[in-house]
Amino acid sequence: MRKRFVIVGAGVGGLATALRLAHRGHEVIVLEKTGEVGGRNRSQTVNQCEFDGGPSLMMMLDPFRKLFEDVGERMEDHLQISLCDPSYRVFFRDGSQIEGTPNIARMVDQITKLCGAHEAEKYPKLIGDLGELYRESIPNFVRTNYLKAREIVAPGQLWRVIKHGMLSNLYKKIEKRFDDPRLRMLFTFQTMYLGLSPFRAPFVYGTLTYMEYGEGIWYPQGGLPAISGAIAQLAMDRGAEIRLNCPVARISGKEAELESGEVITADAVISNADLPYTQRRLEKQPTPPKYRNSCSAFVLYLDYEGSLPKLLHHNVFFGRDYRDNLEALFGEPRMPDDPAFYACISKRSEPGRAPTGHENLFLLIPCPNLECPWTETAQESLKSQVFQRLADEVGFDPSRIRGMEMRTPEDWSRELNLHQGAAFGISADLFQSAFFRPKNRSLFDKNLYYVGASTAPGNGLPMVLISAELLEKRLIHDKVMTDGYVMPDFSENLPEEASWTRE
Ligand SMILES: Cc1cc2nc3c(=O)[nH]c(=O)nc-3n(C[C@H](O)[C@H](O)[C@H](O)COP(=O)(O)OP(=O)(O)OC[C@H]3O[C@@H](n4cnc5c(N)ncnc54)[C@H](O)[C@@H]3O)c2cc1C
Repeated sequence: MRKRFVIVGAGVGGLATALRLAHRGHEVIVLEKTGEVGGRNRSQTVNQCEFDGGPSLMMMLDPFRKLFEDVGERMEDHLQISLCDPSYRVFFRDGSQIEGTPNIARMVDQITKLCGAHEAEKYPKLIGDLGELYRESIPNFVRTNYLKAREIVAPGQLWRVIKHGMLSNLYKKIEKRFDDPRLRMLFTFQTMYLGLSPFRAPFVYGTLTYMEYGEGIWYPQGGLPAISGAIAQLAMDRGAEIRLNCPVARISGKEAELESGEVITADAVISNADLPYTQRRLEKQPTPPKYRNSCSAFVLYLDYEGSLPKLLHHNVFFGRDYRDNLEALFGEPRMPDDPAFYACISKRSEPGRAPTGHENLFLLIPCPNLECPWTETAQESLKSQVFQRLADEVGFDPSRIRGMEMRTPEDWSRELNLHQGAAFGISADLFQSAFFRPKNRSLFDKNLYYVGASTAPGNGLPMVLISAELLEKRLIHDKVMTDGYVMPDFSENLPEEASWTRE
């Protein structure tokens, strides 16, 4: 009854799967290429400043809570979270600003100040509608493995799609509701979290806008990597073994071969490494499927001496031309001119993350993936445009930088094996979402499974946690394991004098 699972990759998807399977009593071995757990969600240090290496917005708490509850724990006993309110400050190119908040009354007030009551009065209805969309789409279209026909073509499903106009264009739907272009940006840019343009996204992704404005943005003490750490610790407490610095070279459903040549056998192998990379490099499929990729991210981690009081914990800067900016990333890829970007100072929520008199400034500039070659010139141009904008609007002075690290599309590809440096995995466009998203089992090997951002249901920490939920259900459905707990067999470890227990 007790099975042995090998998981390739200790990203949040691999760790959550390890925890779920180890909790059921199975033998779990996680093989991670790098020297740390967390994958994209790990920490970065520059001098005395600590940063979230990738994700910095904790949203949609339900999948986080569910993971802990499913293994008999309470999230609050492992993560100390607090609401960021205001969620963020937004800087528009015309010099105007707004602070997003999950408090509806205050948000109405903010919109009134930005562009008048006639726009603000439409806001509560938007949030109500998006809330309904969210509550219907997550259980019916996201938390499903699409293994039965009724999950795909049932009249109830079709009715939901039609009722909410889920497949209509997100930007166009928001454009119809609001006249002010700044509000259109404000309520659509969230698809960028999936590395997807709102001009190319279906309306169902309005659920992301709801997550932000309906439920708010949360922060765990220690930063988002604390989530990876908490899950890894619990998985190990349940008996999972996590081996770091163990790059895997080849997998099948029955074994994983490390680059060192060691072969580890298993009842099933699960790859948490990026799906296109897994299929090409680990499974070595002769004709791997071609996917459309998300954009990438140029990330800068700065130890800044001085203070930047105009910046909150989270800040969004829009460029001059929203549409052109997005076309540069998702159309014919090119480096954006006057790029939109995100700035984060987590010290605002946790002062200990940077020394007194310093700011831990994290900058994320969305950029094309490696389909558009990354060059030194592109890098310098993006960096200097962003530094100039910060100097003009928040008093940033580059001469006060005391240390800097960066991650380019090439780094995402080299360090974490993200195909084409696409930082958000394969794109979440209409034909790579929901039913069309790659399933969590290999088509070529019935014992080989996938978990993580490029498989179902999608990218982002909450989706990756749901991906581990779906995989657990799939393993039960496929009878790889039963829906119950198995007692570990400790008999071989029993001391001689206790041998009677084996009779
Ligand atoms: C810059 C950035 C900002 C983001 N912001 C947010 C945010 O604010 N909120 C949010 O919810 N999400 C955000 N995301 C998305 C989120 O980080 C990802 O969806 C999530 O972390 C992906 O987890 P994963 O387990 O699927 O994959 P990964 O984190 O990529 O983990 C895969 C693991 O597999 C390992 N691996 C790869 N190949 C091998 C091999 N051959 N052998 C052994 N191990 C291997 C890798 O080293 C890695 O540790 C962001 C992502 C990025 C890049």
